Amino acid sequence: MHPMLKPALRRGWRDLDTVQFGVTPAHALTLGPVDRATGGFLDLLDGTRGPALLREEGRRLGLPEGQVDRLLTRLADAGLLDDARGGGPAAAALREKKEVMDRLRPDLASLSLVARRPGEDAGRLAARRDLRVRVHGAGRVGTMLAALLSGAGIGEVDVRDKGCVEPWDVAPGGLQAGAVGERRETAARRVVRGAAPDRPPRPARRAGSAAGEPGHALVILAPRDDIAVHAPDPADVAELMAAGTPHLYAGVVEAVGVVGPLVLPGQTGCAGCLHRFRTDRDGAWPRLVAQWRSRAPRHVRACDLTLAATVAGLAAAHALAFLDGATPSSADARWEVSAPGLNWHARPVPPHPHCPCGAAREPVSDDTSVRDGPRATMAGQRPSSASCPPADAARLAGTWRAHV
Ligand SMILES: [Zn+2]
Repeated sequence: MHPMLKPALRRGWRDLDTVQFGVTPAHALTLGPVDRATGGFLDLLDGTRGPALLREEGRRLGLPEGQVDRLLTRLADAGLLDDARGGGPAAAALREKKEVMDRLRPDLASLSLVARRPGEDAGRLAARRDLRVRVHGAGRVGTMLAALLSGAGIGEVDVRDKGCVEPWDVAPGGLQAGAVGERRETAARRVVRGAAPDRPPRPARRAGSAAGEPGHALVILAPRDDIAVHAPDPADVAELMAAGTPHLYAGVVEAVGVVGPLVLPGQTGCAGCLHRFRTDRDGAWPRLVAQWRSRAPRHVRACDLTLAATVAGLAAAHALAFLDGATPSSADARWEVSAPGLNWHARPVPPHPHCPCGAAREPVSDDTSVRDGPRATMAGQRPSSASCPPADAARLAGTWRAHV
């Protein structure tokens, strides 16, 4: 281990012997009392020294015997420490690719703030390279979303859609004007490739997965059709439900942005659950949905650029959180946003007792903290139902004091 105080956290001295890491309530912690020698020692935690050299430096600074190890343990327990060489062999291989790492540096820094263990951030970033994600829908939202996932280091992002690019599909970060008239899939895949920080994995590597290709860790449904966003059809995801493949909905309907639910088949509310609850509340719901689905709109749908970008961004963030091993708040909920207030609010999508998905029989854990590891690539992998250790209450309050 080459300990490094997380560079993503700004440091400041609150007084002569209390140091604060981070500026926001979400991540800020304080450490104190810190004597002069220990304060000087903190400057050495920049990832260039291993424990042996740090102990030697500690002795030189006059720190008591054992103090260096105690300090490192406490800093690590508080989530302030990273390991400049940690994360396993895949992370080490990624570090060798300097240009790729330079592209992903801000993403790694973000991961360092949600990862607890030293080196965990690099391990998660490297794990993204082996993940496969499919995005259905290559309109304004879907293409941008796919590009974001690709740019964030997801190894394979496959986009599916029909037809050709229309002028109103064009968006910054998505399909470009030059693609109008081209096949949507072809154009969207080019956008995805262009966003990737690295060349896609060679086919040989994929062929190595002997017993059939690994499944998708996540499928995202970003339909251009607004009714498919508002009233997702359970029939469209029958295969995903049967295979246990996690899937996330995202899109825009009548200038309302929607992200969620993230469906973990058999564990969280699905499109079928949503449909049943709506039918329970409103007897006319099935009749309306049937009409909406049978009549194609005569006009271009309301999906302005900023809303498309907002939805693509939030949906990609939820997708990445899930792929990195957390359970984002879109599990069992749909986040919605609309002008003019532009406040995101969550509408619950709980499991319905009569939905064949069976989620009502096995409610998801309400644990939203980051789980042990990144998602496996195989479809059907589900998050462990084991809870993480309870979060440190002091940490949640935004500050932490330790006597060192
Ligand atoms: Zn269901």
